[in-house]
Amino acid sequence: MTRYAFEFSEQTRLPVIIRPTTRVCHSSGIVTFGPLPDKRNPIEFTKDPARYVPIPSNARRMRKELTERYAEAARLLQESEFFPRTGDGKKGILASGVSYAYAAQVIDDLGLRDRVTLQQIGAYPIPDKVLAEFLQAVESVLVVEELTPFVEDWVSLAAFRQRRQIPVYGKHSGHLPVEYEYSPDLVEDAMRDYLGLEKRDRSAVAVPELPSRPPVLCPGCPHRASFYLARRAFGKKTIYCNDIGCYTLGYGQPLHACDVLLCMGSSISQASGIARLTGRRTVAYIGDSTFFHSGFPALANAVQAADNITVVILDNYVAAMTGFQPSLTTHDGEGRPAAHGGSHAPDAATPRFSIEDAVRGLGVTEVYSVDPYDEDSALAAFRKARKGTGVNVVVCHSPCAVNERRRRKGQRRATFIIDRERCNACTLCVRMLGCPGILVTDGEYAIDQELCDGCALCAYVCKQKAIVQATERKESV
Ligand code: SF4
Ligand code: SF4
Repeated sequence: MTRYAFEFSEQTRLPVIIRPTTRVCHSSGIVTFGPLPDKRNPIEFTKDPARYVPIPSNARRMRKELTERYAEAARLLQESEFFPRTGDGKKGILASGVSYAYAAQVIDDLGLRDRVTLQQIGAYPIPDKVLAEFLQAVESVLVVEELTPFVEDWVSLAAFRQRRQIPVYGKHSGHLPVEYEYSPDLVEDAMRDYLGLEKRDRSAVAVPELPSRPPVLCPGCPHRASFYLARRAFGKKTIYCNDIGCYTLGYGQPLHACDVLLCMGSSISQASGIARLTGRRTVAYIGDSTFFHSGFPALANAVQAADNITVVILDNYVAAMTGFQPSLTTHDGEGRPAAHGGSHAPDAATPRFSIEDAVRGLGVTEVYSVDPYDEDSALAAFRKARKGTGVNVVVCHSPCAVNERRRRKGQRRATFIIDRERCNACTLCVRMLGCPGILVTDGEYAIDQELCDGCALCAYVCKQKAIVQATERKESV
């Protein structure tokens, strides 16, 4: 389907969005490649301003072309394989996404093929002919799709246009919920209701409640140190605006580093707005990649407005959350910038991107550059920033712990242990940091040697000096 999407996009000159549902994104399987093309399309730019410049005189023509291309897309999809119809019955089911697989499974399990016609909706725009033929074949429809009732509304409209009075069930009728992803059980219940079948007794297959496992920052994550130190400097009452990245995991206990979050790049503008209206200094957290992506405009705006904000840029040298793609500060471990595509590989002469220079270029005069694992210096920088006026920036440089573990595979690293003689079970390390490496069993504190990354933050926090370095051991990741 993905391959077809590229060809389809080329053919129609329309963008195509591949829209996988949650379950598909969280699944894995064997992928069999089809034949690869012999050669790539030649990559060249052919000048054609009438096509690429949407000034009004071109835009009017383009709008008409778009309508024609959209019609062409519907025609092509009508001939595609993405709308299979199976079964033979007057009860119709329209299903899209992973819900189609659930519906097909229920039909097979309950032997309903001769009662139910199942129509898959595999792409949009849904060709009129597909719906027209389906609606002619059935007397009622249950629409099974996750979230917004898009297909359900579309098929209701199609039935209206065809002057068919046909019941359409789904979310509007209460057979299925609007929220959350679906499951085979949920789809089966809705189908049983729709088909007038006996309800299934689920008590016999009840699964015990699993303990809740909220997502947390990884052991050794430098953001934990930055959040902990910033909170020590700025205190409980400061409003912390967070952003999109793994550092969003600063939300909630014990780090409390996220009071507000809207969308990518919003932390700085939200901090500005809140500071302007409340008259209180606010803190914005933003990662290096997100800052490059969408932090600059808001920071320039905050500088111009002289907002009382501290922007903490969490530079871990990589876009970790989305799969360790390089960011502008990614380097090869020797200080050289990493390759980002383009026509030449970086070398020692290639300048490394400097966040500090960039923010100074936007007019920020108070800039602190810290390593969050040099805790005392970082804490001092945060304290100075708290007392500052206008915009100031603290850049926390420390590599992503997971990326580092991958890079130093085969090398030795030192983990930490808790000396039980010294530990007085004060709970501070757990209450302040929430590192998954620290375990509490029957009131006894210990460090999981498999999880500990050796960052030493807990040793810094422990007032009893009970957390000490263990003997070095071989990295096994
Ligand atoms: S902070 Fe130190 S003394 Fe307190 S529980 Fe943790 S290890 Fe024990
Ligand atoms: S040293 Fe402490 S805070 Fe750091 S990873 Fe190990 S247990 Fe966690």
